[in-house]
Amino acid sequence: MAQERREMVEQLKFYGITNLRVLDAFMTVKRHLFVDEQSRPYAYDDCAWPIGYGQTISQPFTVAFMTSLLVERRPSGRVLEIGTGSGYQSAILDALGYQVFTIERVPGLFEMAGRALDELGVPVARRLGDGTLGWPEEAPFDGIIVTAAAPDQPSTLLSQLADGGVMVVPVGDLASQEMTVIRRVGSRFEHEVFQRFAFVPLCGREGWPESN
Ligand code: SAH
Repeated sequence: MAQERREMVEQLKFYGITNLRVLDAFMTVKRHLFVDEQSRPYAYDDCAWPIGYGQTISQPFTVAFMTSLLVERRPSGRVLEIGTGSGYQSAILDALGYQVFTIERVPGLFEMAGRALDELGVPVARRLGDGTLGWPEEAPFDGIIVTAAAPDQPSTLLSQLADGGVMVVPVGDLASQEMTVIRRVGSRFEHEVFQRFAFVPLCGREGWPESN
Protein backbone atom coordinates (compact mmCIF):
# COMPACT_ATOMS: atom_id res chain seq x y z
CA MET A 1 0.00 0.00 0.00
CA ALA A 2 3.06 2.30 0.19
CA GLN A 3 2.84 3.03 -3.54
CA GLU A 4 -0.87 3.96 -3.25
CA ARG A 5 0.00 6.19 -0.33
CA ARG A 6 2.70 7.96 -2.35
CA GLU A 7 0.22 8.53 -5.18
CA MET A 8 -2.30 9.99 -2.74
CA VAL A 9 0.35 12.41 -1.49
CA GLU A 10 1.22 13.40 -5.08
CA GLN A 11 -2.46 14.10 -5.70
CA LEU A 12 -2.70 16.20 -2.53
CA LYS A 13 0.25 18.29 -3.80
CA PHE A 14 -1.49 18.65 -7.18
CA TYR A 15 -4.61 19.94 -5.36
CA GLY A 16 -2.51 22.59 -3.62
CA ILE A 17 -1.46 21.07 -0.30
CA THR A 18 2.09 22.36 0.18
CA ASN A 19 2.90 22.02 3.88
CA LEU A 20 5.73 19.48 4.08
CA ARG A 21 4.93 18.38 7.63
CA VAL A 22 1.35 17.67 6.59
CA LEU A 23 2.44 15.77 3.46
CA ASP A 24 4.85 13.74 5.60
CA ALA A 25 2.07 12.80 8.02
CA PHE A 26 -0.07 11.59 5.09
CA MET A 27 2.90 9.50 3.93
CA THR A 28 3.23 7.96 7.40
CA VAL A 29 -0.33 7.10 8.46
CA LYS A 30 -1.75 3.87 7.00
CA ARG A 31 -5.19 5.05 5.89
CA HIS A 32 -6.22 1.54 4.77
CA LEU A 33 -6.34 0.49 8.43
CA PHE A 34 -9.11 3.05 9.10
CA VAL A 35 -11.62 1.86 6.46
CA ASP A 36 -13.68 -1.35 6.35
CA GLU A 37 -12.75 -4.46 4.29
CA GLN A 38 -14.78 -3.45 1.22
CA SER A 39 -13.24 0.00 0.91
CA ARG A 40 -9.70 -1.18 1.64
CA PRO A 41 -8.56 -1.48 -2.02
CA TYR A 42 -9.74 2.12 -2.58
CA ALA A 43 -8.54 3.54 0.74
CA TYR A 44 -6.08 5.93 -0.93
CA ASP A 45 -8.53 7.31 -3.53
CA ASP A 46 -9.53 10.90 -2.79
CA CYS A 47 -12.96 9.83 -1.57
CA ALA A 48 -15.05 9.78 1.61
CA TRP A 49 -15.97 6.12 2.27
CA PRO A 50 -18.82 4.90 4.49
CA ILE A 51 -17.65 3.72 7.93
CA GLY A 52 -21.09 2.59 9.19
CA TYR A 53 -23.80 4.31 11.25
CA GLY A 54 -24.43 6.70 8.31
CA GLN A 55 -21.00 8.33 8.79
CA THR A 56 -17.95 8.64 6.53
CA ILE A 57 -14.18 8.88 6.79
CA SER A 58 -13.41 12.36 5.37
CA GLN A 59 -11.65 12.42 2.00
CA PRO A 60 -7.86 12.89 2.16
CA PHE A 61 -7.98 16.38 0.60
CA THR A 62 -10.45 17.57 3.24
CA VAL A 63 -8.35 16.19 6.11
CA ALA A 64 -5.19 17.69 4.56
CA PHE A 65 -6.84 21.09 4.02
CA MET A 66 -8.12 21.35 7.61
CA THR A 67 -4.87 20.04 9.08
CA SER A 68 -2.83 22.57 7.05
CA LEU A 69 -5.01 25.45 8.33
CA LEU A 70 -4.20 24.35 11.90
CA VAL A 71 -0.49 23.52 11.43
CA GLU A 72 0.25 26.84 9.72
CA ARG A 73 -1.31 28.83 12.58
CA ARG A 74 -0.56 26.69 15.66
CA PRO A 75 2.17 24.16 14.87
CA SER A 76 2.25 22.34 18.20
CA GLY A 77 0.37 21.72 21.45
CA ARG A 78 -2.88 20.12 22.54
CA VAL A 79 -5.60 19.55 19.97
CA LEU A 80 -9.22 18.52 20.47
CA GLU A 81 -11.01 16.83 17.58
CA ILE A 82 -14.81 16.64 17.49
CA GLY A 83 -16.04 13.61 15.50
CA THR A 84 -13.51 10.77 15.84
CA GLY A 85 -15.28 8.73 13.14
CA SER A 86 -12.68 6.30 11.76
CA GLY A 87 -9.83 7.74 13.87
CA TYR A 88 -7.82 8.72 10.75
CA GLN A 89 -7.74 12.48 11.45
CA SER A 90 -6.65 11.72 15.05
CA ALA A 91 -3.77 9.59 13.75
CA ILE A 92 -2.71 12.37 11.34
CA LEU A 93 -2.67 14.92 14.19
CA ASP A 94 -0.64 12.51 16.34
CA ALA A 95 1.86 12.00 13.49
CA LEU A 96 2.32 15.80 13.46
CA GLY A 97 3.34 15.70 17.11
CA TYR A 98 0.19 17.16 18.66
CA GLN A 99 -1.19 15.79 21.91
CA VAL A 100 -4.59 14.61 20.68
CA PHE A 101 -7.99 14.48 22.39
CA THR A 102 -11.00 13.26 20.41
CA ILE A 103 -14.73 12.92 21.08
CA GLU A 104 -17.23 10.72 19.21
CA ARG A 105 -20.98 10.44 19.90
CA VAL A 106 -21.69 7.07 18.20
CA PRO A 107 -20.65 4.18 20.50
CA GLY A 108 -19.93 1.75 17.61
CA LEU A 109 -17.54 4.23 15.96
CA PHE A 110 -15.96 5.17 19.28
CA GLU A 111 -15.07 1.48 19.73
CA MET A 112 -13.97 0.85 16.13
CA ALA A 113 -11.69 3.87 16.05
CA GLY A 114 -10.34 2.93 19.47
CA ARG A 115 -9.38 -0.52 18.21
CA ALA A 116 -7.62 0.87 15.11
CA LEU A 117 -5.71 3.50 17.11
CA ASP A 118 -4.72 0.98 19.82
CA GLU A 119 -3.49 -1.55 17.23
CA LEU A 120 -1.27 1.13 15.72
CA GLY A 121 -0.13 2.27 19.15
CA VAL A 122 -1.37 5.83 18.54
CA PRO A 123 -1.75 7.53 21.94
CA VAL A 124 -4.99 9.50 21.60
CA ALA A 125 -7.24 10.40 24.54
CA ARG A 126 -10.78 9.37 23.57
CA ARG A 127 -14.18 10.23 24.94
CA LEU A 128 -17.70 9.07 24.09
CA GLY A 129 -20.30 11.83 24.19
CA ASP A 130 -21.54 15.11 22.76
CA GLY A 131 -18.46 16.90 21.43
CA THR A 132 -20.27 20.24 21.17
CA LEU A 133 -19.82 20.43 24.96
CA GLY A 134 -16.06 20.05 24.52
CA TRP A 135 -13.79 18.53 27.14
CA PRO A 136 -13.75 21.11 29.95
CA GLU A 137 -11.46 19.07 32.25
CA GLU A 138 -8.71 19.13 29.59
CA ALA A 139 -9.24 22.69 28.31
CA PRO A 140 -7.74 24.99 27.18
CA PHE A 141 -6.69 23.64 23.77
CA ASP A 142 -4.21 25.09 21.25
CA GLY A 143 -6.34 23.73 18.46
CA ILE A 144 -9.88 22.43 17.98
CA ILE A 145 -10.85 20.64 14.77
CA VAL A 146 -14.54 19.98 14.18
CA THR A 147 -14.94 17.28 11.52
CA ALA A 148 -18.73 17.55 11.13
CA ALA A 149 -20.99 20.31 9.78
CA ALA A 150 -21.84 22.94 12.41
CA PRO A 151 -24.99 25.08 12.02
CA ASP A 152 -23.17 27.95 13.77
CA GLN A 153 -19.91 28.76 15.54
CA PRO A 154 -19.87 26.30 18.46
CA SER A 155 -19.61 28.76 21.36
CA THR A 156 -18.87 26.31 24.20
CA LEU A 157 -15.96 24.96 22.17
CA LEU A 158 -14.70 28.49 21.50
CA SER A 159 -14.60 29.08 25.25
CA GLN A 160 -12.18 26.12 25.53
CA LEU A 161 -9.59 27.65 23.16
CA ALA A 162 -6.31 28.88 24.64
CA ASP A 163 -5.20 32.46 23.96
CA GLY A 164 -3.77 32.33 20.42
CA GLY A 165 -5.51 28.99 19.88
CA VAL A 166 -7.22 28.15 16.61
CA MET A 167 -10.47 26.39 15.75
CA VAL A 168 -11.08 24.88 12.30
CA VAL A 169 -14.78 24.24 11.70
CA PRO A 170 -17.08 23.82 8.69
CA VAL A 171 -20.05 26.16 9.27
CA GLY A 172 -23.18 26.22 7.12
CA ASP A 173 -26.37 24.36 6.33
CA LEU A 174 -26.79 20.61 5.84
CA ALA A 175 -25.95 20.78 2.11
CA SER A 176 -22.60 22.60 2.30
CA GLN A 177 -20.41 24.54 4.70
CA GLU A 178 -17.68 27.18 4.56
CA MET A 179 -14.41 26.05 6.13
CA THR A 180 -13.93 28.59 8.89
CA VAL A 181 -10.88 29.37 11.03
CA ILE A 182 -11.45 31.18 14.32
CA ARG A 183 -8.46 32.38 16.32
CA ARG A 184 -8.74 33.54 19.91
CA VAL A 185 -6.76 36.71 20.60
CA GLY A 186 -7.34 37.64 24.25
CA SER A 187 -11.06 38.21 24.52
CA ARG A 188 -11.50 38.72 20.75
CA PHE A 189 -12.07 36.14 18.01
CA GLU A 190 -10.64 36.63 14.51
CA HIS A 191 -12.30 34.87 11.58
CA GLU A 192 -11.09 33.63 8.21
CA VAL A 193 -13.33 31.88 5.70
CA PHE A 194 -12.23 29.41 3.01
CA GLN A 195 -13.84 27.20 0.37
CA ARG A 196 -16.99 25.11 0.79
CA PHE A 197 -17.14 21.43 1.76
CA ALA A 198 -19.92 18.92 2.48
CA PHE A 199 -19.72 17.21 5.87
CA VAL A 200 -22.05 14.92 7.79
CA PRO A 201 -24.00 16.89 10.42
CA LEU A 202 -22.59 17.84 13.81
CA CYS A 203 -25.36 16.69 16.15
CA GLY A 204 -25.84 17.53 19.83
CA ARG A 205 -26.60 20.49 22.06
CA GLU A 206 -24.84 23.09 19.89
CA GLY A 207 -25.29 21.13 16.66
CA TRP A 208 -28.21 19.89 14.59
CA PRO A 209 -31.02 17.86 16.22
CA GLU A 210 -30.21 14.14 16.60
CA SER A 211 -32.62 13.17 13.80
CA ASN A 212 -30.25 14.54 11.13
N1 SAH B 1 -12.62 12.80 11.69
C1 SAH B 1 -13.34 11.67 11.13
C2 SAH B 1 -14.52 12.13 10.30
C3 SAH B 1 -15.76 11.40 10.68
S1 SAH B 1 -17.30 12.03 10.08
C4 SAH B 1 -12.39 10.75 10.38
O1 SAH B 1 -11.22 11.08 10.24
O2 SAH B 1 -12.82 9.67 9.98
C5 SAH B 1 -17.85 12.98 11.49
C6 SAH B 1 -18.06 12.25 12.78
O3 SAH B 1 -18.60 13.20 13.72
C7 SAH B 1 -19.04 11.09 12.75
O4 SAH B 1 -18.40 9.94 13.23
C8 SAH B 1 -20.16 11.54 13.71
O5 SAH B 1 -20.73 10.47 14.44
C9 SAH B 1 -19.42 12.50 14.61
N2 SAH B 1 -20.23 13.48 15.34
C10 SAH B 1 -21.30 14.18 14.92
N3 SAH B 1 -21.76 15.00 15.91
C11 SAH B 1 -20.96 14.79 16.98
C12 SAH B 1 -20.90 15.32 18.31
N4 SAH B 1 -21.78 16.24 18.75
N5 SAH B 1 -19.94 14.89 19.14
C13 SAH B 1 -19.04 13.96 18.73
N6 SAH B 1 -19.04 13.40 17.49
C14 SAH B 1 -19.98 13.83 16.63
